[in-house]
Amino acid sequence: MGEAERGESAPRIRISFWCSNGHETQPSFAGDAQIPDTWDCPRCGFPAGKDRDNPPDPPRTEPYKTHLAYVRERRTDADGEAILAEALAKLRGEI
Ligand SMILES: [Zn+2]
Repeated sequence: MGEAERGESAPRIRISFWCSNGHETQPSFAGDAQIPDTWDCPRCGFPAGKDRDNPPDPPRTEPYKTHLAYVRERRTDADGEAILAEALAKLRGEI
């Protein structure tokens, strides 16, 4: 009963995925495997989708960068104020 199943090699199918950079990747899946909606592009790491004309959005890093820049800006301001206050105190003390 199981011999027929064992004798047939599982057919593999290739599915094309496209990332937003236009890279095409063709991972192969077993015929009975569940095909994922997205696939990580091996060339740029962006998510790739099966719809060539409508690839998934690349991961957004801008909010993180903006937040980081904002924190740095605040820190710089705080440091600048402290340095200015210290400089003024020294200046007043010396004069
Ligand atoms: Zn890519």
